[in-house]
Amino acid sequence: MKDFVIIGAGPTGCALGSYLSKAGAKVTLVEAVERPESVVGESMLPCSRIVFDELGLDTTGFLVKHGAVFCQGDDSVRFDFSEAEDPVYTHAWQVQREVFDLRWRDVATRHGCTIQYAKVTGADPATGKVETTSGTLQAGRIIDTGDRTMWLSQKLGLRVADPRLKNSAIGTRMTGVKALGLDQPGDITICSIPGGWIWIIPFGDGVASVGVVMSPACTLSGSPDQRYAGALAMSSDARQRLGGAERIFPWRGLQDFTATSSTFHGPGFGLCGDAATFIDPVFSSGVLLGLCGARTMAPALLDGSTAALDAWQGTYREGAGIFRKVIDHWYVGDFMTVALAPAKLQKPYFRRGIVSLLAGDVYNPARTSPRRMADRMGELASHLRMMAVDPDAPSASEVGPA
Ligand SMILES: Cc1cc2nc3c(=O)[nH]c(=O)nc-3n(C[C@H](O)[C@H](O)[C@H](O)COP(=O)(O)OP(=O)(O)OC[C@H]3O[C@@H](n4cnc5c(N)ncnc54)[C@H](O)[C@@H]3O)c2cc1C
Repeated sequence: MKDFVIIGAGPTGCALGSYLSKAGAKVTLVEAVERPESVVGESMLPCSRIVFDELGLDTTGFLVKHGAVFCQGDDSVRFDFSEAEDPVYTHAWQVQREVFDLRWRDVATRHGCTIQYAKVTGADPATGKVETTSGTLQAGRIIDTGDRTMWLSQKLGLRVADPRLKNSAIGTRMTGVKALGLDQPGDITICSIPGGWIWIIPFGDGVASVGVVMSPACTLSGSPDQRYAGALAMSSDARQRLGGAERIFPWRGLQDFTATSSTFHGPGFGLCGDAATFIDPVFSSGVLLGLCGARTMAPALLDGSTAALDAWQGTYREGAGIFRKVIDHWYVGDFMTVALAPAKLQKPYFRRGIVSLLAGDVYNPARTSPRRMADRMGELASHLRMMAVDPDAPSASEVGPA
């Protein structure tokens, strides 16, 4: 069982392959695309750095990211990663995926993985046979770390769609993007619009990844250019940043991207990264979850027991679950209500919890604020709305948990 065939040499596959290879396993990564393209997934979270550092990822030239700005109407708020609960990592990077993914492949090769360029067309966990466009491979265990199509999960009947997040998105790259007063260079900006949000991920020199995510409640329609123009009309902040910016890449469309799998492992197979579970990207959690999942999956795979893999799966789901909870609060408006509230109306653990979540600190049991914040966000948001109507209501710091 020490021979692994991993489907997909994205960040998750390369990190998993590297950890396994370092521990002496034989790993073949099968990757369909020889030259990675610019894809979504460009804003990194600081806590991914534990994996970057352990495996030696080269981050030279990527724009350093110290925080995130959230805007709604005329209001905006900035969170700096240094405000997290006991922060270990206070910055991350904005990465062009066509460069980032190649560097991950270098990492995997350096740690002893073989990368085979071919598309996986069939896989049988019972026999370990993997069919590819360039022949058949034999694996002790087959791991799918391919993309959001969740190919193996679908094939095995494990994919579970998330009916609450049937969202779609359009994304491109633009030049001439401006920063505003609150921004520090490298910050990601998220502008909330009715039923959706706009992302602006800067790469330096006015170039940025720009996109719009739309929930079914969003009224934007028409061509990507029309939906983008409609989104700008809904956000004065986005208009100031993007007015006059020019598109330099074609629009890419994505849809229905939130789903999970009923199990992440079974006899002869495993699933990690987007191929196992993917949640809405509003907090840029995708790469972090894939990398942290890979880091803890490797020892469980080497152990090979169901108990070890079950324990890994439980931990992996728990971290993703904290993001999932807050994402629900995002789409009903609670997140922005809380984020924009004056500091004196919030308990200190709330802001710390939000920043720790934005930093991706969801896998350290010593950090209590992200979980507490996620559990209490709805309560605090209701209270803040009540105070907006009745200023004599007790302040939020007088109610709720200590
Ligand atoms: C709109 C949107 C915005 C996002 N923004 C962010 C963000 O800002 N930050 C962030 O961290 N995440 C973001 N994400 C999520 C992020 O893109 C993914 O979570 C991340 O890329 C997952 O990495 P991965 O290695 O698991 O999968 P991928 O990056 O998808 O890599 C999978 C690899 O598998 C290969 N592959 C697939 N099928 C096969 C096959 N059959 N045979 C061989 N090879 C195959 C693919 O070519 C690819 O190289 C966003 C997602 C969306 C939809």
